[in-house]
Amino acid sequence: MNSTTTRGLAFDIRPSSARRTPQERAELMANPGFGKVFTDHMVTIRYSAEEGWHDARLEPYGPLHLDPATSALHYAQEIFEGLKAYRHADGSFVCFRPEVNAQRFNSSARRMAMPELPEELFLGAIETLLAHDGDWMPTQEGHSLYLRPLMFATDVSLGVNSPSSTYLFVLIASPAASYFAGGVKPVSVWLSEDYTRAAPGGTGQAKFAGNYAASFLAQAQAVDKGCDQVVWLDAVEHRWVEEMGGMNLFFVFGSGDDARIMTPTLTGTLLPGVTRDSLLRLAPELGIPAEEGRISTEEWRSAAMSGDLTEVFACGTAAVITPVGRVASTAGEFTIGDGQPGSVTMRLREELVGIQFGHRPDPLGWIR
Ligand code: PMP
Repeated sequence: MNSTTTRGLAFDIRPSSARRTPQERAELMANPGFGKVFTDHMVTIRYSAEEGWHDARLEPYGPLHLDPATSALHYAQEIFEGLKAYRHADGSFVCFRPEVNAQRFNSSARRMAMPELPEELFLGAIETLLAHDGDWMPTQEGHSLYLRPLMFATDVSLGVNSPSSTYLFVLIASPAASYFAGGVKPVSVWLSEDYTRAAPGGTGQAKFAGNYAASFLAQAQAVDKGCDQVVWLDAVEHRWVEEMGGMNLFFVFGSGDDARIMTPTLTGTLLPGVTRDSLLRLAPELGIPAEEGRISTEEWRSAAMSGDLTEVFACGTAAVITPVGRVASTAGEFTIGDGQPGSVTMRLREELVGIQFGHRPDPLGWIR
């Protein structure tokens, strides 16, 4: 065992004695899909009320040993993040705005009455894992290494009146294929009136595990209705559009030089996506005005019918930008434009992917 210092922080380094061979790794990485293959190591850091954050280490990837009374298993005090590392042509590994994920992680932590993790520790954990599992960084075009930081309550207690006093932070990494290996395909969406994702005062803006547990049934209903993804509406009036499954939505009005984009305002019930924020900043640099606003399901339909609304797309770390084609609900269905990926959608996608993979300049200084 040895120790390294990353960003002024000491990490115990406990290398795996069961590292996969280059051939095993190549086989696993040839067709990794998403979130199924994991690298040789993970980073763990413990927290206790007395000691604060301590015992940071890199250790072999493997099962965690948990007491059945571990409080996260009962009361779901668990948050996570999702971001990607990319290989650039000069051989370097980069992340896209990881400090924004660190900040969102802490905002989720505050909402769930969990301790904040210093940003340097979040970034130091990523650097430590990449330094040891760099062999897992894909070389294929469009592939990346998905990073999944998480934190959960570890008190062994069924007491429900107060949050846990101990926590475990874990960082794991998973090679990921390009989301649209066979070309960008528009998705169809179901506007969910039966289920809501988040209510005012609830946990919608946190990347909190329970939000996802509560979404599976609505997603299954969308599939049942012949759609790819669920679109969430507000919990009070069931008419204001919020987001799509695990992605934020953008609406494109007008076309050519007159095109502008709009995304639902952060009301506290939707997740503040890093990709969403990036597009709000990047689009104006490309001459496309971008704003936050609100749109109802009736306005969505009528603007699509009149042709004012020319494109709709969803955005998030996993798929970057996904066009939306067909929109269905209990009121019937309609199609955006000709149902094919629009030019504004594809331009923004190319620009953003270009910055992430280092094929385009990085005008806003987002690459770390
Ligand atoms: N909304 C939800 C509910 C999500 O889970 C995600 C994925 N984190 C997003 C939006 C998109 O966020 P980001 O751009 O940070 O990946």
